[in-house]
Amino acid sequence: MRGVRRLGGVDELREARWRAVEARDERMAGLFVYAVRSTGVYCRPGCGARRPLRRNVEFFSTPAEAERAGYRACRRCGPDQDRARDPAVASVIAVCRWLEQPDTDRAPAAMAAELGWSERHLRRRFSEVVGVPIGSYLRAQQAERVRSALRTGMPVIDAAFEAGYGSSRAFYEHGATRLGMTPARYRSGGSGVRIGYTSMVTPIGVVVVARTIRGVCAVRVGTAEAALVAEIAAEFPQALLERDDDGLQDVAVVLAGAVRGDDDATALPVDLQGTAFQVRVWEALRAIPAGDTRSYSEVATQIGAPTAVRAVAGACAANPAALVIPCHRVVRRDGSLGGYRWGVATKQALLAAEAPGRAS
Ligand SMILES: [Zn+2]
Repeated sequence: MRGVRRLGGVDELREARWRAVEARDERMAGLFVYAVRSTGVYCRPGCGARRPLRRNVEFFSTPAEAERAGYRACRRCGPDQDRARDPAVASVIAVCRWLEQPDTDRAPAAMAAELGWSERHLRRRFSEVVGVPIGSYLRAQQAERVRSALRTGMPVIDAAFEAGYGSSRAFYEHGATRLGMTPARYRSGGSGVRIGYTSMVTPIGVVVVARTIRGVCAVRVGTAEAALVAEIAAEFPQALLERDDDGLQDVAVVLAGAVRGDDDATALPVDLQGTAFQVRVWEALRAIPAGDTRSYSEVATQIGAPTAVRAVAGACAANPAALVIPCHRVVRRDGSLGGYRWGVATKQALLAAEAPGRAS
């Protein structure tokens, strides 16, 4: 999973934080807390409690954010209590808090001046302490804000979306681009874009994944690799589609884990084409935790379009990226499985892998 770091700010930061949790690295205390979905508790990176499964972990920059999301502080490690820290680390933590402000316009040079450091020193210290460069941290924070707004069903971007691409520029500039969702870019059939792909054999069949430099643009499940690759090629007729097993090894590892229920592919950056409505549905699907399901009408309500249940089902059926957009986690309100672009048996297998205890 090491290579996921290359995929951009969000995953780079998640990866650095997960490494600290794995190593129980108390030096990262104050920089973030981690919360465990299965227990509802959040901890300091150095907590001595049993290590959680990675896919159950959610990261927050501050204890306050974790509590807003409904988690309570671990009694064992007291993540909500401040402790004395190395002043240099405390300064970097202060820089993090600045960068987390929604309308931050703090240039690193100005932040450095306030600390009495050179900009070069600030950048180096930041990377050492936080594990990612300032730019990656900023991108991750911005993406996280959009994601958590979508998760609460807040209609942050409704107006822009309803008006279509032409006037949704603000959203794409302030949110979606950093999530890797750039629907309009492929209207020309991916002209001039290089797309690498790889394939793997899994318990649900052959999986082919394709990725641009920005993120995953297709994940297909089937029985014959050649047919799946041809399907992707037909969707991006102007793109340069080429096999790149080495380059996509990181993505392949995550997807193979996701098929087994050991990993969650929704953390992978995406670069997808879709209508504004589809993109909104796909983002909502990415917020459904592994092991959970939602009904089509719950998703419709969540995106602020409660009457658009059939359109939500249509967006699920049009999902270009299996697993990465977990449309298999959407079922009918009566609990029956509903449809799945890659077959109901596959949907059932994925749900069973993610929640082994649940009868199907
Ligand atoms: Zn703890």
